[in-house]
Amino acid sequence: MQSRERERADSNSSETVDAMSDEMSTPLLPDTEAPDDPPLLAPGQPTVAILGSGDFSRSLAVRLVACGVSVVVGSRCVKRIAPGLFPDAVELRNQEGAVAKADRLVFLALFPEYYPSLLGLRASLVGKILIDVSNAVELGSSKVSNAERLAEMFPESVVVKGFNVISAWTLQTGAQDGNRQVLLCSDSTEGKREVAQLTRRMGFHPVDLGGLCLARDLESVPLRLFPSWRGPVLTTFLLFLFFYGYGFIRGILLPYLAYGRNSFYRLALDLVNESLPAVALVILALVYLPGLFAAWLQLWRGTKYQRFPGWLDVWLLRRKQLGLLSFFCAALHGVYSLCHPLRTATRHRLINAAYTQVKAGIEEPWDELGAWRSDLYLSFGVLALGVLSLLAITSLPAVGNILTWREFTFVQSGLGYAALTLSVTHTLVFGWDFAFSPQAYTFYMPPSYILAVALPCAVLVCRCLLLLPCISARLARIRRGWERIRKCPVPQHHHAGDNGTLPEV
Ligand code: NAP
Repeated sequence: MQSRERERADSNSSETVDAMSDEMSTPLLPDTEAPDDPPLLAPGQPTVAILGSGDFSRSLAVRLVACGVSVVVGSRCVKRIAPGLFPDAVELRNQEGAVAKADRLVFLALFPEYYPSLLGLRASLVGKILIDVSNAVELGSSKVSNAERLAEMFPESVVVKGFNVISAWTLQTGAQDGNRQVLLCSDSTEGKREVAQLTRRMGFHPVDLGGLCLARDLESVPLRLFPSWRGPVLTTFLLFLFFYGYGFIRGILLPYLAYGRNSFYRLALDLVNESLPAVALVILALVYLPGLFAAWLQLWRGTKYQRFPGWLDVWLLRRKQLGLLSFFCAALHGVYSLCHPLRTATRHRLINAAYTQVKAGIEEPWDELGAWRSDLYLSFGVLALGVLSLLAITSLPAVGNILTWREFTFVQSGLGYAALTLSVTHTLVFGWDFAFSPQAYTFYMPPSYILAVALPCAVLVCRCLLLLPCISARLARIRRGWERIRKCPVPQHHHAGDNGTLPEV
């Protein structure tokens, strides 16, 4: 760089200087405006109409005015609008007046059942872009979307579906808070472009979903309640019910029926704390099981170009939710365990044991092995919870987004297996030799932690098998596109040489 600059300084040739100055004046990046970039508009431009003066209309108007857009609200009865409801900059008119004042964009901030009442405005709405912000009443309630019905009613207007996933509250609190995405769909590219420009100007991020036929899906988005969480939450709940019920029958009901021992007080804390780690462990294993299924399926098929069965696809997509639920159960288990010494039952047992020993004159020797066991058990548990917390933190979009794909896979897969191994070790140290004593199998029912540890152990063994060089090398080849049987014939000039290498180009 330095020598080039010196050369430039030494050069007396005007030709060289001219050529260089030409070169310097050329921008490094071509000065092309992205087609979607909003042109700089003067304040007050454009004039946007909003039909309806309800909650959504008000929030929308406040936001638009704050962004320097001129707003006119069209109401059936202007006199009924309370003074101060809209900002002073908003012009209040009747519906006809508002539509006439709008440059192009008209928001319909009213419920879709009232769209027919706008048919009288059809002539003045010709060529205008109608933005339909409505939502479905209930999931699957109608085959045709509100937006498509609106397009049928106003064939000479352009209908764009959008803003329905943004709440009136989000519009008011500002685009920096909450979800910034505004999903749009329309059959008119020009219409979508104009609405996208306005959206960006309001500080939101427009996302083009495609044609108006997608409006039905879009209208039902706000009605869905955690759709991706339903399966994982149900699985967690059912597992909890299973372990809780199993623990109840084995540890409370059967001893009561057989020996009349009343320990129903354990239902509130002890049994919950016994079930939670079992659920956390099984759920964590369920996070890694679909990945193993996928790997073995690819090995068996000898290709990665065959689709996984639908259930496996869904399962793979739910791993994040399962992982977070496992962390939730493990964290609750940690808190419940900390509460253990506070229990009346625990304190009573400790004092009673000490009293009985003193009374009987027994001095119990220091149990070195027991001390090691309890320390190791607690330490593995704390470490497992710590690693699980890291996994949970990196699954947050804000954190995950700053990680490279390599870093993300290292954390989610590498640390994930570390968390599973630590959790299994925590459980096995807890079980120690008790797992092999006949006392553990009263009523022919093994303790719940033995049931809980079976699946995670199987997952870890399968994972270790996949790490064997002969298997992992084959899997790596398959994942790089190699196929045992090629379904698609390779063109002649692409054939590999006899030794399996590609011919040199
Ligand atoms: P709203 O408070 O009840 O307001 C609806 C407005 O529609 C009324 O204030 C009324 O204004 C107007 N309207 C026009 N013709 C009407 C007629 N024939 N009968 C009754 N009202 C008529 O409802 P909103 O919460 O603003 O919701 C409006 C639309 O926005 C709905 O489609 C909703 O799904 C959608 N949306 C709302 C939110 C939200 O957070 N609120 C979020 C996303 C989408 P005039 O009396 O002045 O004409």
